[in-house]
Amino acid sequence: MDLTPLTEPLDDTVRVVGRLAPPLGRLKIRRVIDLLNHFPRTYNQRVSVSQLKPGMYASVTGHVVSAENKATKRSRMKLTEVMVEDSSGTIKAVFFNQPWLTGKFQPGLRVRVSGPVDYAYNSWTIKPTAFELNPSPLEHGLEAEYPLSEGISNEDFTDLELQVIDRAALIPDPLPEVLSKQLRLMPIPEAYRQAHMPDHAKALEAARLALKYREFFLLQAGLKLRRRSEAGDAELAIKVDDDLRGRALKHFPFEFTAAQTRVCQEIEEDITTPGRMHRLLQGDVGSGKTAVALYAALLMLDNAYQAAIMAPTEVLARQHFANIRAYMRDTKVRVELLLGGMKKSDRDALMADLADGKIHILIGTHALIEDYVKFKKLGLCVIDEQHKFGVRQRATLRAKGNRPHVLAMSATPIPRTLSMTVYGALDVSVIDELPPGRTPVITEWIHRSREKHAYERIRKELKEGGRAYFVYPLVNESDKLEAKSAVEFAETLKNDTFPEFRVGLVHGQMSTDEKDAAVQAFREGKLDILAATVVVEVGVDVPEANIMVIENAERFGLAQLHQLRGRVGRGRKQSYLFLFGDPKTDEAVKRLNTICMTHDGFRIAEEDLKMRGFGDFVGTRQSGLPKLHIGDFESDYEALHRARIDAAKYGDQIDEALIRTCLELHFGRRYRLLDV
Ligand code: ADP
Ligand code: MG
Repeated sequence: MDLTPLTEPLDDTVRVVGRLAPPLGRLKIRRVIDLLNHFPRTYNQRVSVSQLKPGMYASVTGHVVSAENKATKRSRMKLTEVMVEDSSGTIKAVFFNQPWLTGKFQPGLRVRVSGPVDYAYNSWTIKPTAFELNPSPLEHGLEAEYPLSEGISNEDFTDLELQVIDRAALIPDPLPEVLSKQLRLMPIPEAYRQAHMPDHAKALEAARLALKYREFFLLQAGLKLRRRSEAGDAELAIKVDDDLRGRALKHFPFEFTAAQTRVCQEIEEDITTPGRMHRLLQGDVGSGKTAVALYAALLMLDNAYQAAIMAPTEVLARQHFANIRAYMRDTKVRVELLLGGMKKSDRDALMADLADGKIHILIGTHALIEDYVKFKKLGLCVIDEQHKFGVRQRATLRAKGNRPHVLAMSATPIPRTLSMTVYGALDVSVIDELPPGRTPVITEWIHRSREKHAYERIRKELKEGGRAYFVYPLVNESDKLEAKSAVEFAETLKNDTFPEFRVGLVHGQMSTDEKDAAVQAFREGKLDILAATVVVEVGVDVPEANIMVIENAERFGLAQLHQLRGRVGRGRKQSYLFLFGDPKTDEAVKRLNTICMTHDGFRIAEEDLKMRGFGDFVGTRQSGLPKLHIGDFESDYEALHRARIDAAKYGDQIDEALIRTCLELHFGRRYRLLDV
């Protein structure tokens, strides 16, 4: 199958006028297939004025009656109003800040205006997102409207797509034949043609569905293939029996929760059967993920393998180290910590022992992926807060062993439905239960006028031995000015609000040593109050801290607020979260109310997803998903779900070489990023 006509650069094939090269480059359209996969973002229905309905996206053709510029009273916006008339009625096209348009819309000229229409005060208006002067006669019922960039017009795209559309016939179909027949999807060439040049609404709908389904299927098949290749790996020969189980569990000063026990069983199953574990462990902060990870590590090292635990920050790595060392106190298990800034002689000694197999569990930051780190027999990689690492970093750690098992952990829950579909072929475990004895954090939203009152309650708690975080939002951690305001904020706390208590500060502009020193002092009780920027978001564990105040809470996202709250409520004392802020938008009000009302991380994640939309939610957190061309993870949920089921069902009939070709063609090199 020769795909060159699809993969060759546009310049060689298509009459790309020089002026179009920069905008096409900006839109990342380089190959013929990229152009074919540049789908319209919406379609305007070509209708006459009498057929309009409020809210529809329409394309109206008529003659210009008049065109004039107006200034709006309140804002400084300039309006251009163009009256367009067809045989059935009149519509007013309103343009913003383009006064020169009056010169173009000469009365009597035939024009086409496209965009959303509205009906008010007995007249139709349209806010054109596209227009054409002297348009060609109507060919289709629907007019495609493309995502544009400066310097390229909708007409340019219409023209370009026409030049390449025939080549869609060369695109291979990823679907197994049985499935193709059964689903009766529109064939690929026809689907591409209808998506770009629809004949009518029905054909368009069928075309888009066919393309979306194939895109999702391809994604799911790709995940499946990767899984299959891992399942083929030689066994690591891990044996787990009751004796080992008992010995491993003995190290923990508590009973595992039912949820932890279930996840431990899932992990045992993974590591004792052929294939590699590639499991994403989700659970709220404090739900006991680290304990589970250590349990897994203990099973591995009893089978003569080493384990690595990588955390995104030094504070977090140190904390894991302190906790795990404490669990392993009276054993022969050797646990060590590797950080970036270590003295070379210390590091060399550590690395020699690691290569010798004398170190059983190595905990560390990104330093773990440095070239000098060599394990004797690495069997398990634990990656904490996995979304904080890049795909390549995670892969580099993995490459330190001979295809070790991977346990990725995340405290930022992804809604269940979503992780099931998006990570279709990966294993996801969830700890949905907190260890016993935790009292839920009392969360209150404090209005400005009640701040003094809240301070008094905090004072009382501090007097009784409590400890408090004061979190201060920084828009930009690296900004010196912002850091200065955090410093001022801490000064005010120290000198004015709580002069009788000891106040410390951590912020992003401080060195790691300074940060660690402040957190350490707070942990040891040498500070009563720790004023902090969002650096406390990740992982600080100070069980005695029972109060958190979040300033300008309206500036934080839901997930962030929830993560922050996880820093308190870890000890026996009743804990409090006070949200200071006066939100200006409905959405911000809703966020604060949600946090006050629910403690369930998954419910919060679902809300967060609803409020922010999928792209934002996933885009910022979970790298590793390719950009879809036509499907939408959120609104096309059904097609996605269907494709997932089908890919699982027809998995054995998937032609591996074909899927690889299709993946490369469709997603470019990005498909390799499919990874937890
Ligand atoms: P995570 O990594 O999910 O944030 P950790 O494993 O660090 O959670 O556990 C948080 C705290 O709860 C730790 O102090 C840990 O010792 C404790 N813990 C974990 N599991 C249990 C349990 N089953 N019962 C009681 N305490 C537990
Ligand atoms: Mg943790």
